[in-house]
Amino acid sequence: LNFDLDFNVEHDEHADIAASDRQIDESLIDEALDHIQPDSSGAEDETNAAETVTDSEIHKQLLALKARRDDEIKKYKMPLCYIRGDFFDRPPHPVFALHNSMKGSGLNPSDLYLRDVFIWLPYLLPGCPTRFICTCGAALSRNGFNDDPIARRVRHIPDDFFLFTNRFICDDRRLNEPGCGTSWQGTDPHILAQLPRQVQVAFPGTIFGYGPIIHSFNPSLASAYISPRGAISKLLVRLMRNSFSHRHGAAPFSEMVTEVQYLSHADNELIYTAAANSYGQTGLMRFSAFDDPKGYAGSPPSAPYLKGLFTDIISAPRIYIERDTATKPLTIAKADHAFDVTKHIGGVKGERIFTAAYTCMNEFEEARGHSILSILQVAGPCRRHVRLLRASKNPPTQILYTDSPQGRLNYFPIMMISCFLPAERSFHE
Ligand SMILES: [Zn+2]
Repeated sequence: LNFDLDFNVEHDEHADIAASDRQIDESLIDEALDHIQPDSSGAEDETNAAETVTDSEIHKQLLALKARRDDEIKKYKMPLCYIRGDFFDRPPHPVFALHNSMKGSGLNPSDLYLRDVFIWLPYLLPGCPTRFICTCGAALSRNGFNDDPIARRVRHIPDDFFLFTNRFICDDRRLNEPGCGTSWQGTDPHILAQLPRQVQVAFPGTIFGYGPIIHSFNPSLASAYISPRGAISKLLVRLMRNSFSHRHGAAPFSEMVTEVQYLSHADNELIYTAAANSYGQTGLMRFSAFDDPKGYAGSPPSAPYLKGLFTDIISAPRIYIERDTATKPLTIAKADHAFDVTKHIGGVKGERIFTAAYTCMNEFEEARGHSILSILQVAGPCRRHVRLLRASKNPPTQILYTDSPQGRLNYFPIMMISCFLPAERSFHE
């Protein structure tokens, strides 16, 4: 997919293909995009760069949250946000934060730099098993929380949030039932797969790239996506899917997210300065710049970062989708060429690469095959259908609906079909 995207970008002189890395002029936020990397391999660096800095306001928030977590679990057996019915541990809204700080030491802008934290502690979730099991079959022991980073930044709008989880270990020092020593994050697909499906759906991330995806865990249901390169919320992924497929590519998408995050920062700054005015406070600390790592710590995702993560997310379930498609029956086939869609896919110096898209539906109106062709040919896709039907033990195709069947007769392998129907009208109706 990465290759395809790069190919499109390189061969699209009019820059009208999705995933264009062109910078848009006259933007308020050019400076924020100056750090765009030339390719998606920079996404991991960008993730590391966005981690919280020691002594920053967000780092202090996460340290306090971690300490509080221990206390809450000792006292209430679960985090207070779970008791409240929420996965998020949220800082007070700026209006209340400032109002409260007026009762104490006076207005402080640092209360407005904090972010929501998604608390994911699998062993405290509804319907969790009495014990989580390692891939070796032994029971897992809980192994505290993470230190570096304490929580992971998940890209989101209008602001990023953080994901806090616990660790498990297959303890090899245990006297009864010693384990294999493997360490697990509470966010690992192997752990998630042991939770009930309805709880999996609420999870804010899944990890790609650490080996095969566990079958009982469906990544498309998660509310955010995590790959070794970074983490992004489900909302942003859904927006990306929609906008990328309508040729609003990674660069303008990155601009959009950046703009939304900058506006959120501007809202907070306005609330702070207006509150100072309203409460008659003078000589206060300046509000942090958007990208001050010790202050507001804004870190919008760049275009290559988004492209890299999107590639991970789209590629991960691809093999399952293809396998599922390949095993569907094709007793009644309906096939046709489409010419419009290929006008928008790939081009070299204004010349189109592809001539037609060839789609084949089965008797349940399921897409059974789809090929993008540079020459008008159907024999290749048809032979593939025949091979897959045999392999998946489906009966051979009995009827094929197509336009101008007499003209196509030469192309179709005769073994595939026993009967042609001239069905131009009924097909399109
Ligand atoms: Zn183990």
